[in-house]
Amino acid sequence: MILHLDPNTPQNLIDWLTEEQYAKFVPNTNPLVAVTTKAHKEIPSFLESFVHNHWTFSSDLQLGNSEYLPKRTVKIGDLELGGATSFTHLIAGPCSVENEEQIFSIARALKEMGIRSLRAGSYKPRTSPYSFQGLGLEGLKLLDAVRKETGLNIVTEVRDATHVDHVIEYADVVQIGTKSMYDHGILKACGASNKTVLIKRGFGTTLQEFVQAAEFVLCGGNADVLLCERGIRTFEDKTRFTLDLCGVAFIKKETNLPVVVDPSHAMGWRYGVPDLARAAMAMGVDGLLIESHIDPENAWSDAAQQIDLTTLQDLKKSLELVGKAVNRELV
Ligand code: PEP
Ligand code: MN
Repeated sequence: MILHLDPNTPQNLIDWLTEEQYAKFVPNTNPLVAVTTKAHKEIPSFLESFVHNHWTFSSDLQLGNSEYLPKRTVKIGDLELGGATSFTHLIAGPCSVENEEQIFSIARALKEMGIRSLRAGSYKPRTSPYSFQGLGLEGLKLLDAVRKETGLNIVTEVRDATHVDHVIEYADVVQIGTKSMYDHGILKACGASNKTVLIKRGFGTTLQEFVQAAEFVLCGGNADVLLCERGIRTFEDKTRFTLDLCGVAFIKKETNLPVVVDPSHAMGWRYGVPDLARAAMAMGVDGLLIESHIDPENAWSDAAQQIDLTTLQDLKKSLELVGKAVNRELV
C-alpha cells in the first residue's frame, strides 16, 4: 500500500509504520510517501486522519505501478524520456572500454552520426574469470575524458557494490547488469543517488522480480529508473537468449517506467540485431541499447554480437522510418 501522509503526522505513528509494518518512507517527499507491503489493504483508524491519499496493489509493484502515477519522465543528460514525450533514445557503443584509441574513435563516430549517448562497460561481469574483466577505474576516467570532448552522455555498468560509488560519480546513466540486478548493495546505493539508473532484466528473472528490483531504487528516493529487456534464458540455444517482447508490452502497460530494449545481448549474433531493434522501435519503446564497435570481430568482449558503425548508421536511418509509422522520434 502507498500512503500519502500529512507532513505533520506524529513521530510515534511514523515509528509504528517503520518498525512494526516495515514501511519504507521515500526520502524528501511532501506529502510524506510511505510504502508498506501489498498485503496491507486497510488503514488503521488511528492513522486515518493523517492520510491524504492511498493506493492498494495486488503485488509489490507499487511506486513503479501505472495505477499510482502515469508514465514517469526520466532524464538522460539534458534529454527527457518517457512521460508525455514520444522519444526513442538510441544508445550505442562497444561492450567494453578497451583503450583510449578504441573508445575515442567510436565516440567521435557516434557523435558525427548524431547519436547522443555512448554505452561502454569498464567493470565487466564476465561468465569466465579468464576473460577480459574490464579496465575498471582507468576505463571510467577514459569515459570521463570522452564526455568532456564530445558531450556524449555516458552509460556504463556497475558489476558489484565494491565500486558502485565510482560508477555513480562518473556515469550519466548507471547500468545494472543482468547478473547484478539482485545486488541490494548496488540497488540501495543507486536509490540514494541522483543518477539515472538502467536496470537490465536478469536472464532468469520473472517480470515481478524485475519490477521489484526497480522498487528498491524508487523507494530509496531516486525516480530516474529505466527498465531494460535484454533477453531471457529459454530452451532455445540457437540464439544467445530470447528477447521477451511480451515482457516489454507488460512493462509498458503495468509500470510507469520507461522501457529500453537491448537486442544485442538477446540475439548474441550481429545478424539479428537490426531486425530486433526495428521490432522494438515498432512497439514504441523509450530507448534502444545497441552494441556497436569500430572493429567488431576483434572486440575484447561480446565480439559476435556487436555491429559495425556502417551497419549502425543504416540501422539508425531505418529506425527513423519505423518511428514515423508509430509516431515516435528517434533521438
Ligand atoms: C552489457 O551491456 O555489455 C552487458 C554485460 O549486458 P547484460 O548485463 O545484459 O549481459
Ligand atoms: Mn556486452
